[in-house]
Amino acid sequence: MKNRIAKAITQMPPSGIREFFDLVLGMKDVISLGVGEPDFSTPWNICESAIYSIEQGITSYTSNSGMLELRKLISADIYKRTGVRYDPATEILITVGVSEALDLVMRTILEPGEKVIIPAPCYVSYGPMTSLAGGQPVYLPTTKEEAFKINPEKLDRLIDKKTKALLLNFPSNPTGASYTEAELKQIRQVAEKHDVLVITDEIYDILTYDTDHHCFVNNKKTKEYSVYLNGFSKAHAMTGWRIGYAAAPADIIGGMTKIHQYSILCAPIAAQIAACEALKHGMEAANEMKKDYNRRRKLIVAELNRLGLECHMPEGSFYVFPSIKHLGIDSVEFCTKLLKQENVAVIPGSAFGECGNGHVRMCYAIDTQDIKEAIKRIERFLTTL
Ligand code: PLP
Repeated sequence: MKNRIAKAITQMPPSGIREFFDLVLGMKDVISLGVGEPDFSTPWNICESAIYSIEQGITSYTSNSGMLELRKLISADIYKRTGVRYDPATEILITVGVSEALDLVMRTILEPGEKVIIPAPCYVSYGPMTSLAGGQPVYLPTTKEEAFKINPEKLDRLIDKKTKALLLNFPSNPTGASYTEAELKQIRQVAEKHDVLVITDEIYDILTYDTDHHCFVNNKKTKEYSVYLNGFSKAHAMTGWRIGYAAAPADIIGGMTKIHQYSILCAPIAAQIAACEALKHGMEAANEMKKDYNRRRKLIVAELNRLGLECHMPEGSFYVFPSIKHLGIDSVEFCTKLLKQENVAVIPGSAFGECGNGHVRMCYAIDTQDIKEAIKRIERFLTTL
């Protein structure tokens, strides 16, 4: 059969991260600062809660929306952090990671051709998820000079009649940038002026280092036009459990639930039980892991700057985004050569949007000795350029 693959798929570029990792496969002695994943295993009490439930024979579907106990815990957790109440019955949906929640929200809110503004460099799935839902991603470039933060005036100018939503992510993958309350206030003002929805992916919120994380949703009014996404993958080292959630007004959650009930039915019950344990007794372990990431953050930033790879101190997440502009080679060439010559895998900044070129992303959620060895190898590599 001709044209058996839909155009939307043939036109979709492969993930720049995966593409690069095909090169790594089969290589030995590679130090990878590539994949954005904790090097810790899930804390044992969380694993045990799921194991115990399986031993008890608890292996069924749950409600499409997810276990009520988990939705209640999430509602209480959001209330504690923001003072905003979400009704566990109608305003929270448990999803297969933030990844599924992103897909659902795009398909729920977008009419064909409607625009979503995405500050860039950004997480690799934002553009493709928007396009697959029939929307049009519009990138708002941010620069090192702006600390990779949104300039509210530029945002204001970019919004037009076709703009349906703004997609925020902070702390950011790949730059680590985050926002103060005053900075968020300016973004809220622009969103309110133009009546756009704000999808806010705060999956790295707990991994904010020098200050407290401020949630985009801070009162009843912001709740009305926001879709808050969060999950357990990063701070609780639960990437493989595939569990996250969306909190939003009932009409949006209702729409998302319709798609979710046909395409997924429900998130895995063992993962939902584990997420309950993470919310009830998971913060101590999460804070210990965070302390460790913080030490590695300081180490890698100091070392990269010593090597002349100018690197701002990221406020959160577990990535650094140093500049390689002064070397005069593009980021794909830098990463390919570094991998071939020194067996160190880092991701080209261009994988996160055109404006990421001239940078590379390194994930420092790896062993400190490996960070030190990677730095040694990068130092040797730089002398060959
Ligand atoms: N959002 C951001 C910004 C991410 O960096 C990632 C994973 O790297 C995800 C969402 C996916 O999260 P989950 O594992 O909950 O699907």
